[in-house]
Amino acid sequence: MNKNLVTEFSTEWIKYSDYTTKRTNGYSDEYIMPAKNAKPIKYTIADVADEMIIDYLNIGKKFEFERFNVKNAILDFAKKYGLIGIISYLPLNTEYTYSDKVYLSGNDIGMLKEWDLIDYLKQFFPFEFKKKFKATKPEKKFPRLHFPSLSISMIQEETTDSDVFWGANPEFSLPFSKYYAEKIDDIGAIANAVYNKFKASYDYDFNTPYQERSFKGFDFFKARNITINAKAGESNFSLQWAFNSLALALDTILLVKICDTNQPLRMCKFCNQFFIAENVRAEYCSPQCRNKANVYKSREKYREGI
Ligand SMILES: [Zn+2]
Repeated sequence: MNKNLVTEFSTEWIKYSDYTTKRTNGYSDEYIMPAKNAKPIKYTIADVADEMIIDYLNIGKKFEFERFNVKNAILDFAKKYGLIGIISYLPLNTEYTYSDKVYLSGNDIGMLKEWDLIDYLKQFFPFEFKKKFKATKPEKKFPRLHFPSLSISMIQEETTDSDVFWGANPEFSLPFSKYYAEKIDDIGAIANAVYNKFKASYDYDFNTPYQERSFKGFDFFKARNITINAKAGESNFSLQWAFNSLALALDTILLVKICDTNQPLRMCKFCNQFFIAENVRAEYCSPQCRNKANVYKSREKYREGI
């Protein structure tokens, strides 16, 4: 049981070959979405997990300290891994596409906690809603009480929906639509919250005796709504984490990395870059940083000596 759980992520994902930014009108928020002729590309989360979590934390850090740089970082991230799937990450009610209300938890991007389904979907399909959804009047034989006044159905997109999450809830495939868009600031704010949780775990004080610590648990950082499947391969079963969004996959990867005692995620004590440590005691991202840090240390000792 000493295996690194991240290596067992067999979950496949989809990104597009290119992304672009767009505004609904001149002054509104800026969105990011697949570029017009971009093609969906399949990849496996496990193959990129380490690099992806580091890129994500860098976005979270930039959002706080170099806001002017965050747009390019987010575009690069999307080109490497796709959008983070905020539409499915926030709702508390799973299978929300089957109900007429969407309930969100308290969130880092200031969205209301209760939405009518159509209004909620429009937040993430602000440009080409009608290409993805068809509104229909409910059939009269169903009592009104149990039905919204307008029911909506999803228009399938062959290339993505049928490929990856066939048979799953529509909420799994929504973020893979070529019409799906996310606000740049929303991605930045969510990544920033994750960055701050990483920082809190990184700065955690293990030296204070346990009884005297004011903050003992990390239970404020939960990855919600995860399900795990046993996926039948040719000769064995493998774990398939059924993430509803890339944001949830990233939460999970970070939780695994925080608890990993073999190759933990670290911040270099010299240059502050994130890195996956090759052993538990590694404090610097590279021999260069370790050497530079040692030079500084010995200079300081020298000064103290004077
Ligand atoms: Zn370094």
